[in-house]
Parts: sequence; C-alpha cells; structure tokens
Amino acid sequence: MGKFPIADAEISKIWICKRCKRRNRAGVEKCRWCGSKYLRPKKKALKAKKA
Ligand SMILES: [Zn+2]
Repeated sequence: MGKFPIADAEISKIWICKRCKRRNRAGVEKCRWCGSKYLRPKKKALKAKKA
C-alpha cells in the first residue's frame, strides 16, 4: 500500500486498457472505449520510476 489509502482504493477500482490505455472500471470484460479485452488492473506501478 502506498502513502495514500484513498488513492489506492481508487486505483484498485480502475483497469487500464492495454490497447488504448484508457481507464475502465474494474471487472469489465471489455474496454468501453475500444472494445478490447486486453485489460489489466492498475496497480501500484507509479513507485520509483523516475530516480
Ligand atoms: Zn481500450
């Protein structure tokens, strides 16, 4: 968990489309924007990316 529990909670509700990189609600089967099924949950990815 990160510093911001609320933000973590929000992020955990979001899935990112691998094709168009847009946000979808977690649990959707297809991207609502492009219809792609390639979705992934958004995780704590933004950690120490920029040194
Ligand atoms: Zn998409």
